[in-house]
Amino acid sequence: MKLTFIGAAHEVTGSCHLLQTDGKNILVDCGMEQGPDLYENPGLPIAESDVDYVLLTHAHIDHSGLLPFLTKKGFKGSIFTTYATADLCNIMLRDSAHIQEFEAEWRNRKGRRAGQPEFEPLYVMQDALDAIEHIIPCQYNERIKVCEGLEVRFTDVGHLLGSASIEVWVTEGDVTKKIVFSGDIGNIDQPIIKDPTYTTTADYVVMESTYGNRLHSSEKPDYLADFSKVLKETFDRKGNVVIPSFAVGRTQELLYFIREIKEKKLIPEYQDFEVYLDSPLAIEATKVFSKNVRECFDEEAMKLVNAGINPLLFDGLKISTTSDDSKLINFIEKPKVIISASGMCDAGRIRHHLKHNLWRPECTILFVGYQAKGTLGRRLIEGEKNVRLFGEPIEVKARIKSLHGVSGHADMNGLLKWLGGFQLPVSQVFVVHGEDTVTEEFAKTVEEKFGYPAWAPFPNAEFDLVNCEILKEGVKIPVKGKKPFQKKEDTAFERLLAAGRRLMGVIGRNEGLANKDKAKFESQINNLADKWDVWDE
Ligand SMILES: [Zn+2]
Ligand SMILES: [Zn+2]
Repeated sequence: MKLTFIGAAHEVTGSCHLLQTDGKNILVDCGMEQGPDLYENPGLPIAESDVDYVLLTHAHIDHSGLLPFLTKKGFKGSIFTTYATADLCNIMLRDSAHIQEFEAEWRNRKGRRAGQPEFEPLYVMQDALDAIEHIIPCQYNERIKVCEGLEVRFTDVGHLLGSASIEVWVTEGDVTKKIVFSGDIGNIDQPIIKDPTYTTTADYVVMESTYGNRLHSSEKPDYLADFSKVLKETFDRKGNVVIPSFAVGRTQELLYFIREIKEKKLIPEYQDFEVYLDSPLAIEATKVFSKNVRECFDEEAMKLVNAGINPLLFDGLKISTTSDDSKLINFIEKPKVIISASGMCDAGRIRHHLKHNLWRPECTILFVGYQAKGTLGRRLIEGEKNVRLFGEPIEVKARIKSLHGVSGHADMNGLLKWLGGFQLPVSQVFVVHGEDTVTEEFAKTVEEKFGYPAWAPFPNAEFDLVNCEILKEGVKIPVKGKKPFQKKEDTAFERLLAAGRRLMGVIGRNEGLANKDKAKFESQINNLADKWDVWDE
């Protein structure tokens, strides 16, 4: 009975753990790495075709995104998850496959001209459809027998529609151990979905630590009032409010709030304002929310449902499914709200809406979620005055505003509260899904506060669950990094890293460069990166 840490070890994304018992191989999550990658993930120590089951905590791509890759590589087993997660995966994995195919096509268009070998996408649509076929949806709070010696139960952990902590009972001979995988632990008071449920017993706990050293702000913003103010001010100026939004989760929250603004008549002058939801993925995701009401909605949302009100629908909501619908929005002169993806403005239909609205001083671009470094969204928030969209220079004259909703993640106190839910001592806590040093810090906090041994494993670390001991420490290999005992390669790689650091230094010193030169520099770096950025399988 052994647990191996594959992904999201000393990192936030790419969640994946391997549980092995009596010849069975079980994965908990099978996520894709997103954003900057710190440590090399050596990958599965077994063949994908030898994986028997996957237990999935929730639909976010950093937890589910490699399921199609798993099926592509020969996985034939079953994927157990909740009903709502199954529904969300059905749309999100297809969307992810679409992105993979699109990116490969784009690279190959450029690559062919440069005489480069064909670039193969990580997976294609058929792989995603195959993965979806393997999903077995389960009810929350029901103890399910997966096979002899393996039982599981999903409990709502309030992070995203369908999200769960998973309790896993493993029996080998006369030894039974219970391992609880926290999944991403939700914040309290998020609209629509429930607050986290607390699990009470475990021998072992594998828990996330995204906010392991941070607290959310203690003052509660008046979201409805702030949102209404932005809408009214913009409509007064006869402008549009353009909201780049994440299709799943954040968009449904926005719809929930807009319905409330209309119901409470918070901007009576513009009671009939129209809202264009222009993202096929967001539209599909909203349908999934409306389908999984009974199991997933919190009390407040249920009150509306019981009164015959759909909390995500209101008068004036317009849906744009086709790209023609999307283009037509720009011909409507009446001030309106446009909600579109992607949330960080790096792809998708939102870029068209930015092109048509960014230059207009009467319009507002309203950010409602985190913007990662380097994205167009982040650059706009940081006050960039000129951007390029579809090869065209655009002057930024619209107002740029941010409105932060409730975070989907518990903060440090929320994580500790979740761990405090265990009524009997835990033999060992494994801290994962956090930034490098945050995992270590949070493990220390857990030891101090609860006295449980807590450990932040590196990729490929192994733990014996019967004897409660570390079998393998795991390895800390920086990405594209050095293999041990290959001295020559090490030096060459160190030089490469140093060159990269020098480049960052040069960028830092060139903040004052003319925008034209900045763009030139940027395109040179991107060309260089495109040339060397090859995935190796
Ligand atoms: Zn998540
Ligand atoms: Zn996550």
